[in-house]
Amino acid sequence: MLERFHRKHDTCARCNNTLGLRSHEPEEEYWGINGKLCKNCYDLVKSDIRQYDAHHISGYDRLPAEIEGDLSVLLFDEKNTIVFSPKKKGFLPLQITSDLLEDCKIITRNESTSMKRRIFSVGVSKTKDKRHLKLTFLKAARNTFHSIWIYTTR
Ligand SMILES: [Zn+2]
Repeated sequence: MLERFHRKHDTCARCNNTLGLRSHEPEEEYWGINGKLCKNCYDLVKSDIRQYDAHHISGYDRLPAEIEGDLSVLLFDEKNTIVFSPKKKGFLPLQITSDLLEDCKIITRNESTSMKRRIFSVGVSKTKDKRHLKLTFLKAARNTFHSIWIYTTR
């Protein structure tokens, strides 16, 4: 029993090869990897994640509006999942798998449509168009579609 426990932790969680001296912990829980990774697998996983600085503007009821976070696209092992991970502690990352994704569009919206900016730009008629990512996905539990707006800065 104890030996099996040790064996499990001496092998890579992805390829099962014996781990050398250099093993890597998965950086994020949403990678979905239970255990340590060998260097090859770690490098492969890292290179198959695209990450962007982003703001959740609105649309997802479990996240506050205008919250800062990372938008990651996970492509390794055919995960094909989009994750919005808030920087603020206490909020769970939103994960959208490709089978739930209905639509994905880049839409130009006027900056003044954003509530916070409208408040701060009172009296200053500064209007600027910004490109937003609109993701529409199926909420598994309720079987209804849901759209969120994301603004990426990189
Ligand atoms: Zn490996």
